[in-house]
Amino acid sequence: MKKLGCLFLIPVVGMGLLFLGIMMTITGENDSNLNEEMNNEDFSYDGEYRFNGVSPEIERYRPFFEKYAKENGIEDHTEILMAMTMQESGGRLADVMQSSESLGLPVNTITDPEESIQQGVYYFSTVLESAGGDTKLALQSYNMGHGFIDYANKHNNGEYSQPLAQQFSDHMKQRLGWNVYGDPNYIDNVYRYLDTNEPDYAGGGNSEWTLPLKEIRITSEFGPRTHPITGEVNSFHGGLDFGCTPSDDILSVKDGKVVEAIHSNIGYGNYVTVKHGDNEFSRYAHLTSIGVRNGQSVNQGDSVGKCGTTGSSTGNHLHLEHMTELGQPHHAKKDPRETLGL
Ligand SMILES: [Zn+2]
Repeated sequence: MKKLGCLFLIPVVGMGLLFLGIMMTITGENDSNLNEEMNNEDFSYDGEYRFNGVSPEIERYRPFFEKYAKENGIEDHTEILMAMTMQESGGRLADVMQSSESLGLPVNTITDPEESIQQGVYYFSTVLESAGGDTKLALQSYNMGHGFIDYANKHNNGEYSQPLAQQFSDHMKQRLGWNVYGDPNYIDNVYRYLDTNEPDYAGGGNSEWTLPLKEIRITSEFGPRTHPITGEVNSFHGGLDFGCTPSDDILSVKDGKVVEAIHSNIGYGNYVTVKHGDNEFSRYAHLTSIGVRNGQSVNQGDSVGKCGTTGSSTGNHLHLEHMTELGQPHHAKKDPRETLGL
């Protein structure tokens, strides 16, 4: 794969003002470009599309977003890529994703929207990989450069937060002597364009989990324990168990999309996994029956199946897991008790 050059160290994508800062430093220029760049940077789309999806100017490029997202293996990020583009240009500029800078070229060098999308999507896929699949961390580093990921690793356990973005921006401004460094509110600015009529599984992390059963009784805690069947000491219980009866509906803890609906008589038995965000999954195991199909969207509180004791289980119960990625080892999972606030 072709290296894109050391300009990645100067995070500039989507940062007209920063680029202007460089140009002014280099050329001492301060001319009418300023207004143009200001308009790009401060772009706000008036009215109807602002809080409800993207504008028709962006929507018309959907086939390109789908094509290149697929090519880079990030088709589940198509909507977020389009929301980003809305923030970058509103679809009004030929370099719709403002991706020239990620090639080390001056702002708006790319004059073909498809080329801009091809490069922008590719570049986003590289930051997403560096960010370990964390969409918010990746988005903020699309805006502020790979340096933000290193900064997050060093100062915030590799996690995005708005204050961290502000802190990094301030740090870089001071270090470089610039007035502006990136947009510390980039995440909010991008997310406002996601269609709120769709389940929020593209972003995740906003709403709280609700209980997976109408009435709850915790029967086994998350963490190290003696396995009830193998007797193995120090096996790690990667979920939280709730007592229930086969007539009980198992409820999705949050809006999302079913990514696993699997029939089995070993291990988890019949189980369902719902994706709520790029780094947020809930899994419901030992079901008597599964009530959803793979790919189906579910709302918080919808039944995904019935309580049961299929698979490796000693009695009717729900085994609930909170994963941040599929295929995660048990000890890396999160304690659902904490997520549920119990
Ligand atoms: Zn369990």
